[in-house]
Amino acid sequence: MPSFKRRVGLVALAALRACGAFHVARRLTGRGLRILCYHGFSVADEHRFRPGMWIRGDSFARRLAYLRRAGHPVLPLDEALERLAHGTLPPAAVAITIDDGFAGTHSVAVPVLHAYHAPSTLYLTTYYVVQQDPVFDLAVGYLLFRTAVDTLDPRPLGVPELATPLAWKRLTAAAREATVAAIVRHGHEQLGREARARLLERLAELTAVPLAPVLESRMFHLLNEDEVRAVHAAGVAIELHTHRHATPVTAACASAELAENRRHIVRLTGREPRHFCYPSGRYGEWDPDWLSAADVRSATTTVPGFDYATTPWWQLSRFNDGESVPQLMFEAEMSGMLELIRRLRARLRGERRARDIVAPSPTRVPVATPARPRVEDRPVRIPNYAAADAVPGAAHGQPSKSDRRPVA
Ligand SMILES: [Zn+2]
Repeated sequence: MPSFKRRVGLVALAALRACGAFHVARRLTGRGLRILCYHGFSVADEHRFRPGMWIRGDSFARRLAYLRRAGHPVLPLDEALERLAHGTLPPAAVAITIDDGFAGTHSVAVPVLHAYHAPSTLYLTTYYVVQQDPVFDLAVGYLLFRTAVDTLDPRPLGVPELATPLAWKRLTAAAREATVAAIVRHGHEQLGREARARLLERLAELTAVPLAPVLESRMFHLLNEDEVRAVHAAGVAIELHTHRHATPVTAACASAELAENRRHIVRLTGREPRHFCYPSGRYGEWDPDWLSAADVRSATTTVPGFDYATTPWWQLSRFNDGESVPQLMFEAEMSGMLELIRRLRARLRGERRARDIVAPSPTRVPVATPARPRVEDRPVRIPNYAAADAVPGAAHGQPSKSDRRPVA
């Protein structure tokens, strides 16, 4: 059930659409590129677990049907950015991006993309492609999301912080998240691959949630190597997302992460990746120089908004779509209605964004090595997906020490 605020917002959007405001918004914002961001495509009920991060195949097909019906040109990201820079982008153009590379990208998303002849980009993180384990953080979170037990005795898990039985049903959401975080932290910092797999088995017993369907459906697995090749052969551009979904703290770490990620992508596709997406949306922690040193041409964030000829290529905005986004809100976003509302809010807050200050120049061509942005030019981080991503256990964040060993 949507919150009261959400329901009021939807009623207001329905009224705006009925009086033709979406058409006006589209004319006013036509020059902005709409980059869509997806993560998982449900093979079971993952969208109930993380509705901001997963979307059902039917819902995804509805989105693409709408884009076709409403006449939004869907372009490959690479072409869209070039045309944006050269002032030749068709009005209200869209680029579709997918993060991470969950197995459902192949089984659910690609058939829909194919049916609508829609080009797309997949930012692939390669550690779990090579290892073919379920993403540990998500599997732990899912078992605890699904459990119906009243009391959970976590002692058999061997997590030092969890030394007493928990009245699970009566715990607050924050206390549950803290439990997930403690298990995930222990698994990453203290255990190797096999011990983590055994911990998942023990957790499945304690929660009375069968683990076999989770593993067999591969809901939290990433694409295997054959599936990456198949997705690439289906026309999806495979791009960079770091090998371990990491946010490095030094230039050397960033270089190693990008090089390993690139090596696997080239090995699987025979094509050099050129574009990048910041893992977990943490773009503020990356130095743009690290990206230019790795020959990265563009980088996307999870900050909502359209992209213009003046938007820095290492800080591209995207709209995070998922099952939690009602169809009306998706249409409001694509029309530009929500972009206008964001601009209005920014004005009211007195925060003029960098792109409003820089005069647009249709002849401006971005260079491959962008200058470092001034700190005050960086947009305020308004994570959308990252809100879910930031919840402990929601994302496959930093790898354990054991993960840091070479994996291939
Ligand atoms: Zn990611």
